[in-house]
Amino acid sequence: MAFEGLTERLQNAMKTLRGKGKVSESDLRETMREIRLALLEADVNFDVVKTFVKTVRDRAMGSKVLDGLNPAQQIVKIVNEELTKTMGSDASELNKSPKIPTIIMMVGLQGAGKTTTAGKLANKLKTEQHARPLFIAADVYRPAAIDQLEQVAKQIDVPVFQLGTDVDPVEIVRQGLAKAEADKNDYVIIDTAGRLQIDEQLMDELANIKKLANPTEILLVVDAMTGQNAVNTATGFNDKLDITGVVLTKLDGDTRGGAALSIRAVTGKPIKFVGEGEKMSDLDTFHPDRMASRILGMGDMLTLIEKAQQVSDEKQAADLEQKMRENSFDFNDFLDQMDQMNKMGGMESIMKMIPGLANNPALANAQIDPKDLAHMRATVYSMTPQEREHPEVLNPSRRRRIAAGAGRPVQEVNRMIKQFDQMKKMMKQMSNGNMGALDQMVPG
Ligand code: GDP
Repeated sequence: MAFEGLTERLQNAMKTLRGKGKVSESDLRETMREIRLALLEADVNFDVVKTFVKTVRDRAMGSKVLDGLNPAQQIVKIVNEELTKTMGSDASELNKSPKIPTIIMMVGLQGAGKTTTAGKLANKLKTEQHARPLFIAADVYRPAAIDQLEQVAKQIDVPVFQLGTDVDPVEIVRQGLAKAEADKNDYVIIDTAGRLQIDEQLMDELANIKKLANPTEILLVVDAMTGQNAVNTATGFNDKLDITGVVLTKLDGDTRGGAALSIRAVTGKPIKFVGEGEKMSDLDTFHPDRMASRILGMGDMLTLIEKAQQVSDEKQAADLEQKMRENSFDFNDFLDQMDQMNKMGGMESIMKMIPGLANNPALANAQIDPKDLAHMRATVYSMTPQEREHPEVLNPSRRRRIAAGAGRPVQEVNRMIKQFDQMKKMMKQMSNGNMGALDQMVPG
């Protein structure tokens, strides 16, 4: 899981402050030393760490934080805010050209995920804006590259302009743009060649494509798993091409966090999107504040809610929100939620976005195997309407009756009721928002 080590170490660093009504300067120094080590270990750029630690320390010392109310919480808040700032504060939108087509040039080293990301981006534009993108296949060095782009394009039903591998990439782009103009495509996504390392010849070629196409966006795709190398790559491409933004891929892997936390500060260019899987739908807008919460183990509620909205209709979402507020979540909702969670990528991927649950080992085994879903459904169906709406009436004799009715062991029914209670608790946390998680992190 991404940032696992960093999250754990940051939480440990802040544990030193736990339960302290008063935080002394030496407590703060100790915490900051731990935070510094945690960041360095996560492969965050040295200068970025230095600036970060200094800023947090100055803010904590400068205001009345240490003498004020709940200093530990205040410090967590400062850390959260500064992490957010380091990553650029606000989400950066994709720029759009005033006249069509908007030209997006995808660049990056081989294997970073350029072609996959080109597909994801086209898919996003299609689904969110009903756009009609065209791909231009400008990687002529690997015949497989064009095939791969064709395959990706087929999945999402987007046309590809290609002239094989014997034509100069600049010429391919020229003809591709003419084709887009004739077909009135509103977006053109140019998939360019990658190398294993930055080399002059490639950079010259990309610069020539840039000169011809005058793209609105030059998106550099970098692999988050490569840490500081990703940052160096970004610097190299930016020096030569003046990129407009970065896409950080493979955040679903166990990346340490260095790339996410350093790229903006080092290059001055925003991370615009993050890739979190191999599927065409696995591309999310990068929100520095949400990422900071996630790094601190405080979850990423907003992304979760957005994902929920994608799989449920508006009325359902509004109903659920009301139930969460009223704390009247019942077994009927439980069944609905189980179904939706499966659609959203399963319990595990959801739990890590929820404040307080993100790193809560006690709840790690609240995971639900999709094949148990049918059993759960049978169990809920064996309840009377009253039991479904008022789970508190489920005493042992009712539980035995339900188990017999569903043909499941009573222990399983008990387990499910426990899971239900956990989910209800989680819903309550969600409706309380992030501050609940801050409290959890540093009680007192
Ligand atoms: P390119 O050489 O830069 O065009 O890279 P590709 O698009 O071929 O991607 C290289 C590999 O990384 C492929 O196996 C992709 O499926 C995989 N990949 C790309 N983005 C992601 C991501 O966000 N998460 C994961 N897990 N894999 C990714």
